[in-house]
Amino acid sequence: MKRIVFGQLVTMAEGPDGTLVENGELMVDDGRIVEVRSNRSDAFAGETVDLSGHLLLPGFVNAHCHLSLTGLAGKIAPGLPFVDWIRQVVQANEALPFTGRLRALREGAQALSASGVTSLVDYVAHTGLIHEYAGLPLRSLLLYEVIGFSPARAGEITSMLDDLLKNHPKGNASLKLGLAAHAPYSVSPALLQNLKVLAAKYRCPLSCHVSEVPEEVAFLRQGNGPFRQLLEERKAWNPDWAPPGVSPVAYLSQLGVLEGVQAVHLNCVEMPDILPLAGEAMGAVFCPGSTRWFGRNRWMPVRELLDAGLAVGLGTDSVASNESLDFMREIRLAGAMLPEVSRAEILWMATAGGALASGLEAGRIVPGGMADVIAFKRTNVKSPWWDTVWDHPGSGPDAVMLKGEWVAR
Ligand SMILES: [Zn+2]
Repeated sequence: MKRIVFGQLVTMAEGPDGTLVENGELMVDDGRIVEVRSNRSDAFAGETVDLSGHLLLPGFVNAHCHLSLTGLAGKIAPGLPFVDWIRQVVQANEALPFTGRLRALREGAQALSASGVTSLVDYVAHTGLIHEYAGLPLRSLLLYEVIGFSPARAGEITSMLDDLLKNHPKGNASLKLGLAAHAPYSVSPALLQNLKVLAAKYRCPLSCHVSEVPEEVAFLRQGNGPFRQLLEERKAWNPDWAPPGVSPVAYLSQLGVLEGVQAVHLNCVEMPDILPLAGEAMGAVFCPGSTRWFGRNRWMPVRELLDAGLAVGLGTDSVASNESLDFMREIRLAGAMLPEVSRAEILWMATAGGALASGLEAGRIVPGGMADVIAFKRTNVKSPWWDTVWDHPGSGPDAVMLKGEWVAR
């Protein structure tokens, strides 16, 4: 058993207001939280770490990333139309040698860990990368990313995924598998529905980039535009496909795929989309740095989604569309871009919100929960707890505990 004496601790267990405990002690054993005490015991025989000048929070949850694209840092210029950006990412990634991709993936994980991330939700598109995540200083939920608009490929992709999920060991809390449909414009309706069936069969999360750009909305409403050109260029266009004529959210709902999904981006949702999202989706992920990098002039209506009761998390997305993987920067950007959301709520999104939106057991400091904890030295004891994170001079917390062990202190 280990004891951590703290000045402040926010459990994030009771929702966006946090739940602050002061001048207590945190008991940890075998990688799990045993107890959060609001007082300090006089005698304790085990190891004690004194963080009485610190604020403790659950480790951050990066709810959306593509870590295997870390090798593209600085290689893609901002300002391209979205479809041209996709073309450039595909081309630049194919040009990277596999060893370079692996090295960048490890460096990216270090950057996430240094900025306080202990749980990562990552899209992977290469089965050969999956075992690499076991050695990273994070827990990972890997969502195998599927692209396939041509209906001819739906059966083959589905049976490959069925095998992948069948053979992945269950119960590995550090490396879980799930599924991701790339987007409603790049995955056929049949394959979207197959992914939903597989996610239910294996009880794993299903994620999707949804309503990211206006071109996506136009494609689903009218069936034309740059996405149609891209599909034709990649020989994936299906001449029998008819546009559903509704919003991306309504389209997924009609297919039965919105239920339980982790919806990423949601920049272009309209007010009629809020209710189905709140009623059906598992959660939403806002990516402030990526949204800023693309120069978007509208983004996810986070206030409305939170008020409707949906869990919302934060994600870095990849450095193909972001300046860095510094999660503290994402938190501060979210604060700047969402003036109607409080700092306490943004820190809830960075922890429990991201975990709930992803179907993860993480992001909260609760008895029996995983001992993933970060600590920030308090420089101004008079300021509210959330300002300790905002005003923190470093680029990451002063201490990071993962699975009950200190990875940085
Ligand atoms: Zn993404």
